[in-house]
Amino acid sequence: MKVFRTIREIQVFLHKPELSQKKIGLIPTMGALHDGHLSLVRKSRELDEISVVSIFVNPIQFNNHEDLVNYPDTWERDVDLLEQEGVTAIFAPSSEEMYPSSPILEIGFGDLADSMEGEFRPGHFAGVGLVVGKLLNIVSPTRAYFGQKDLQQLAVIRSLATELNFRSEIVGVATTREPDGLAMSSRNLRLSKEERKTSIKLYEGLKMLQDKLLTGSELSTAITETKAWVNGVVGINLEYLEVVDSYSLQKTVDLQAHKMISLCIAGYVGEVRLLDNIYLITKEN
Ligand code: AMP
Repeated sequence: MKVFRTIREIQVFLHKPELSQKKIGLIPTMGALHDGHLSLVRKSRELDEISVVSIFVNPIQFNNHEDLVNYPDTWERDVDLLEQEGVTAIFAPSSEEMYPSSPILEIGFGDLADSMEGEFRPGHFAGVGLVVGKLLNIVSPTRAYFGQKDLQQLAVIRSLATELNFRSEIVGVATTREPDGLAMSSRNLRLSKEERKTSIKLYEGLKMLQDKLLTGSELSTAITETKAWVNGVVGINLEYLEVVDSYSLQKTVDLQAHKMISLCIAGYVGEVRLLDNIYLITKEN
């Protein structure tokens, strides 16, 4: 497995004549890898001949400096895990390599990015859009893999790839969970033992809301009641709980009017911000 630190090095590698016709998969990550990331890697290993994992903690997508400086770094373990998965190359550039000067391009995603994460993390999706656009350009993969755990991010990236005519197919991969249901996240490493126990209430809130909606509760009543339940959990500071169209991410007013509906939640458990979502109706839940 190769490790590349510069754009030039990875491009020289990928443009070798013997590789140029091969199917390339790109899995963008910020490191601190867990089984959720590895499920994206495995999908690429199944479908592509070359799998490139990028590890880059993108400073411009963090609107909270504390979150950036506290972002876990498990580099050596990450390298071992990716080696075991048979990944072809890691692309791990420095911030200076990715942003030799402060970027002036600001990508907007309109309504898609106004609500939920966009509302609570101003500027987040502009930062995500820019870094993913750069990575897609640098690697020019056949496919790029993203987790459905970050549903709004997936929607934003799909629109980026479509509107800028990237050649890459954007592949969404189902959320990997801990045995008790907590969505795997690099941020879970920062939870204390007590907070780890509390964190499951976010998922339980989603399941409660799902249950209410599937057993005929009125939409706004179901949301209000579930919010009250989550807000009653000591140690959780709820930011949002929304029922949205899975593609447009706009709030649902009529459950019958959408092909797919997602229930989305985000909140702080202690100092750690977590998010999760499930489909209203799915085989996976
Ligand atoms: P991150 O390192 O948190 O930026 O995540 C890198 C990629 O892994 C993103 O596309 C995430 O959506 C995806 N991902 C993170 N956690 C999970 C999970 N539990 N299941 C599936 N994909 C995930």
